[in-house]
Amino acid sequence: MKAFQEMKVWPGNTMKFSTIIARAVLGLSLACAGTFAAVAPAQAAAPMQHKQVPGFYRTMIGDYEVTALYDGGGSIDSNLLHGDPALIQSLLARSFQDDPKHVSATVQGFLVNTGSKLVLIDTGAGGHWGGPTLGKLVQNLKVSGYKPEQIDLVLLTHLHGDHAGGIYENGKRVFPNATVIMKKADADFWLSKEIMAQAPEDAKIFFKIAQDGAAPYLAAGQWKPFEGMDEIVPGVAPYAIPGHTPGHTGYMISSKGQSLLVWGDVAHVGAVQMPHPEVGIVFDSDSASAVKTREALLVKLAADKTMIAAAHMPFPGLGRIRKADTGVGYDWVPATFVDLK
Ligand SMILES: [Zn+2]
Repeated sequence: MKAFQEMKVWPGNTMKFSTIIARAVLGLSLACAGTFAAVAPAQAAAPMQHKQVPGFYRTMIGDYEVTALYDGGGSIDSNLLHGDPALIQSLLARSFQDDPKHVSATVQGFLVNTGSKLVLIDTGAGGHWGGPTLGKLVQNLKVSGYKPEQIDLVLLTHLHGDHAGGIYENGKRVFPNATVIMKKADADFWLSKEIMAQAPEDAKIFFKIAQDGAAPYLAAGQWKPFEGMDEIVPGVAPYAIPGHTPGHTGYMISSKGQSLLVWGDVAHVGAVQMPHPEVGIVFDSDSASAVKTREALLVKLAADKTMIAAAHMPFPGLGRIRKADTGVGYDWVPATFVDLK
């Protein structure tokens, strides 16, 4: 009862519960009196606004400001997942995903302001892939207070269209002052005309986007594939996450003892792949390797409690992994909303 009698209504401000009730009653009486004194004529129905909140969300990792940027949302067909169909459907139903043909999925990139460099990790689809519900990352970057010209570095986890498509528009650089960086194995693969010629028809679009996107940066000398795992700028280092594509790479952000792993496409459908990391997806270049990588990485991230920035977990895609109470697989635990000073 003490908790109620002297409840804390705001940090540093304790007030007796009876006082709160008394003030609330008084406030209500005054409000009612005002309403009755000026009875308004019937209002027309308020039009619905049909606008969502701006598509960015900000948090701090040590001294570094991280902004999740929403590129858009859509749905994928659960048939694209590789695993026991009955298990997949039951996992989806358990997460209230009732339409197996349209499993909700989002795309986001992450902007890191180190204080001296502005680093964008993945760029969304840029209208080149995934339909009109994607391609909003630059718009949300602007709403978040930054301009594309301010970006110093674009780091790509891989060259799939929903990560690299946002770097170009009408043959031009969207980030004119940025050096675009990615693992060399990914650039070698997706920029190869020979490999593209042998690829299945429905995979050719990924090659085209990578090649069209690279062209204006190559011409400007701003396309820089890397081979080693050296830190790129202080506190931003590549992190090996092989399997999804030939050079798929995460980036570890570290500042003042805090860290955030931008993990690219470790998972596409959290409702299925967190409890059952052995379930793959058609987009994996090397499915066996992607599964092995995911299984090992989830063990480590659950143990380390590392914060994760995920391209396809529900926006803003920030969260952690913990071992599931069921004893099978993992839970994705979304980060809680924080206000920044
Ligand atoms: Zn992706």
